[in-house]
Amino acid sequence: MHKMKNQKVAISACLMGEKCKYDGGDNLNASLLQKLEGADLISFCPESESFGTPRPRMDLIFQEDKSIQVICSVTDKNLSSQIESYAYRFFENHKEIELFIGKDRSPSCGVHSAKLHQKDKTLIHNNATGLMAKEAIRRGIKAVDAEIYLKEKL
Ligand code: SF4
Repeated sequence: MHKMKNQKVAISACLMGEKCKYDGGDNLNASLLQKLEGADLISFCPESESFGTPRPRMDLIFQEDKSIQVICSVTDKNLSSQIESYAYRFFENHKEIELFIGKDRSPSCGVHSAKLHQKDKTLIHNNATGLMAKEAIRRGIKAVDAEIYLKEKL
């Protein structure tokens, strides 16, 4: 039997070829999908659902109160609450999820790979957690960046 058989896996929709990136493109990853063969894939895209596609880029910014927020790179608007509510609803509606695979480097989906900036856009580090991935981790779901998952042995 295939090791992934019927495993419930939440996955960033762009990795499956959905054109939901900020610029209308996708991040289709055929090797990843091959590795996940047999799993039940449940896709999500907090940004497209909340703000549409195409949309301006957004960044993870470290705040004075020490919180980390998603800020629109064009308007400087704080977009975190929409992403957090999407994430909350998604996991409430999918309590069966056993594994979360997020698109590397995304401020929403990156697990330990997102860039964290100061308000002036200076880079603090590049292993921050996006807000959707954060909710998966908070719920105790195993969460892995797609590029790391590809290297993991099943
Ligand atoms: S990385 Fe996440 S938020 Fe960005 S396009 Fe992919 S699924 Fe949507």
